[in-house]
Amino acid sequence: MSSPVENVVIVGTGCAGLTAAIYTARANLNPLVLEGTMPGGQLTTTSEVENFPGFPEGVDGFQLMSNLRAQASKFGARFEAAQVTTVDFAAMPRKLVCSDRTILAKAVIVATGASPRMAGVPGEKELYGGKGVTTCATCDGAFYRKMDVAVIGGGDSACEEALFLTRFASKVYLVHRRDTLRASKIMADRTISHPKIQMVWDSVPVEVQGVLEGAVRGLKVRQVKTGAESVLAVKGVFVAIGHVPNTGPFAAALDVDEGGYLKPAAGSQVKTRVPGVYVAGDCADHVYRQAITAAGMGCAAAIETERWLAEHGG
Ligand code: NAP
Repeated sequence: MSSPVENVVIVGTGCAGLTAAIYTARANLNPLVLEGTMPGGQLTTTSEVENFPGFPEGVDGFQLMSNLRAQASKFGARFEAAQVTTVDFAAMPRKLVCSDRTILAKAVIVATGASPRMAGVPGEKELYGGKGVTTCATCDGAFYRKMDVAVIGGGDSACEEALFLTRFASKVYLVHRRDTLRASKIMADRTISHPKIQMVWDSVPVEVQGVLEGAVRGLKVRQVKTGAESVLAVKGVFVAIGHVPNTGPFAAALDVDEGGYLKPAAGSQVKTRVPGVYVAGDCADHVYRQAITAAGMGCAAAIETERWLAEHGG
């Protein structure tokens, strides 16, 4: 028996995927939503989300994602666990090859997100998410008022995070493995000259301390030139060493940039060079990376899908 052809398959259940699911389901497109290994995406690892519009008291990240999922289900979105391994977008209908089956679809929204790159040192994983290790200053910075914190990294993200944190923290250590920043000159100059930021050059993290207490109490670092180890007495550790977009299965079929992010077609945030295939959220956005911007892209991708299916027989 041949597989049914879906109207639209949405790959990913973060803010972008679930918003696309709400819109396409409400437009009666009967979307199939594929949940990968991390249902709900990055927000499920955050405790309190204070900057998502509409929640003046803040909202638990996991709860927010559960709400979006329930809202999509209410309008008829169907959810299935599936890991897309490769795709054939030259074929029509489009083919999504999963580990256990092949799914056919007229339209596809790729919303697979990005995963923060982690330093991989002891204590980091144990204290991640609400215990002092985080990857998002915009999300969690306000919890570190009048405390000392450390940022790991030397790119634009690390500088941006460090500068943002100066609004709350008493002192921000910026731990970088070399003696020059990768960040753009303007960001680097601003960071280095900020009175609240102390540069910790040529240093790599060795251990996040505080596992027994269940809360960060320090970051042990090693000076790579001398080998000397020291502990920064911080309450928060912000890891900002880049993100890895979850785009592997789509990279050959769509355009990607040098960082592996999906590149939308010129003049659009969500269209790709393949008709009826759209991108949304962090898999295609290394600049804003916010829940609300991902949701916005999910909405835009859903509206484009609706129009495309109306024109091409949805
Ligand atoms: P990035 O430019 O790739 O920088 C990553 C930084 O982390 C580098 O300094 C790198 O060190 C360091 N690093 C990587 N792996 C490490 C490890 N295992 N241990 C310790 N340090 C490690 O990433 P990003 O800062 O997230 O920026 C990504 C892109 O977004 C860039 O194109 C950036 O310009 C852009 N962006 C722009 C803005 C803005 O314009 N406002 C803001 C954020 C991001 P090395 O330098 O030694 O390689």
